[in-house]
Amino acid sequence: VTERREVVVVGAGPAGLAAAIALREAGVGDVLVLEREREAGGIPRHADHTGFGLRDLRRVLSGPAYARRYAELAERAGAEIRTRAQVTGWAEPAASGTAAPAADASDGPGSLEVTSPAGRARIEARAVVLATGCRERPRPARLVPGARPPGVMTTAMLQQLVYLEHARLGGTALVAGAEHVSFSAVLTLAHAGARVAALVTEHPRHQTLAAVRWGARLRHGAPLVTGAEVTAIHGRRRVEGVDLRDLRGGAIRRVACDLVVFSAGWVPDNELAAMAGTALDPASRSPVVDAALRTTRPGLFAAGNVLHGAEPADAAALGGRHVAGPVSRWLAEGDWPARRVPIACEPPLLWAAPAAIEPGAGPPPRGRIVLRAARFHRPARLAARQDGRVLWRGRRTRIVPGRSMSIPAGWTRAVDPAGGGVSIGIEA
Ligand SMILES: Cc1cc2nc3c(=O)[nH]c(=O)nc-3n(C[C@H](O)[C@H](O)[C@H](O)COP(=O)(O)OP(=O)(O)OC[C@H]3O[C@@H](n4cnc5c(N)ncnc54)[C@H](O)[C@@H]3O)c2cc1C
Repeated sequence: VTERREVVVVGAGPAGLAAAIALREAGVGDVLVLEREREAGGIPRHADHTGFGLRDLRRVLSGPAYARRYAELAERAGAEIRTRAQVTGWAEPAASGTAAPAADASDGPGSLEVTSPAGRARIEARAVVLATGCRERPRPARLVPGARPPGVMTTAMLQQLVYLEHARLGGTALVAGAEHVSFSAVLTLAHAGARVAALVTEHPRHQTLAAVRWGARLRHGAPLVTGAEVTAIHGRRRVEGVDLRDLRGGAIRRVACDLVVFSAGWVPDNELAAMAGTALDPASRSPVVDAALRTTRPGLFAAGNVLHGAEPADAAALGGRHVAGPVSRWLAEGDWPARRVPIACEPPLLWAAPAAIEPGAGPPPRGRIVLRAARFHRPARLAARQDGRVLWRGRRTRIVPGRSMSIPAGWTRAVDPAGGGVSIGIEA
């Protein structure tokens, strides 16, 4: 039996819940949010420190309080939240027999396969919003050789263990990464009774705010090792140490530790987008959307950190809020752009979000295009060009890997919809 719904949001993190609230506020009668975890709220549920909600809720909350607030607001707005419901893929359409729904479906993006304690179900919706977030690359994806003892995890896994399961850890931990989230791992480790042997980054400097780095140094004594990478993990029954390779000279040294936390190195949770056959950006692996957060599949939208791993929660939530207007328009009018102009970034810039321009799409979330760089770069002038024509120029002083910078989006109105791709790069 197929359940028929108007809008299904996949993922009850800040983006999905904010989308559901805004959809209900916009008058959409039937909004179902599917969440695979036991509770709604997404990553903030287990990020038990302050720093959430400034730009969207206009207050600063702890992660769990922020998550609870969004879940309450979504329920109060009249959205249905179904937890322990994992979307596993798209139902095969009877006619074509392919895994993805028909590309020209004008009545919706297809049916979702959902697994929950009640069994397997098929849910068809006129619009689907993917708000599945992103995750840190775990050790296997980083191809770190050596033994496979327990005690190797990502920050999100660490925080689930400490804040949801109340584990005490003790011992000494090595944190691979020096982005914002890596320093969040330092706080969590301190809370769980573990000492930090070092934060290790391949880059020449940390990538967080100076106050955050110095706070970690002064309060938790966490030293920073730059220009190095973890090349092996040692220990059989438990972690005993790691090898760090100096990227400048190649020297390898052993650091004793009982835990290894791989932080940052974000990958979007893009499986459902990929299975739907939507275009993925070659650099970010996120679904390519325009400013209206429309993927290349009619009726399929995406919002939040599945588009930009990892922005703060309030940015994800504002993206979720933004998608409600375009979804409502799609429900009312059924129009989907046939063509859009892709945005490509030139090194050292990596990717842009949104990664495509459709001149009728209106402004993107927060009126900005988010850019990410692969490495540090001195202050520089950036330019956006189409077919040799400069559409925008502007200087950016802080070009930091793992941390977004944003540029205004007004110039996208001047993009020629019939022209070639737009490129954004650093001017010599
Ligand atoms: C350790 C850590 C610390 C952080 N600290 C801060 C901070 O201090 N301040 C801040 O603003 N931000 C912080 N962030 C970032 C913040 O958590 C994210 O920006 C935010 O959670 C992104 O929201 P989202 O809705 O896009 O994704 P998520 O919060 O990741 O939510 C996605 C949801 O989708 C669900 N899902 C995925 N796939 C499926 C599926 N197939 N079926 C059903 N459900 C699915 C997931 O279970 C999840 O609940 C931190 C992140 C981490 C990892």
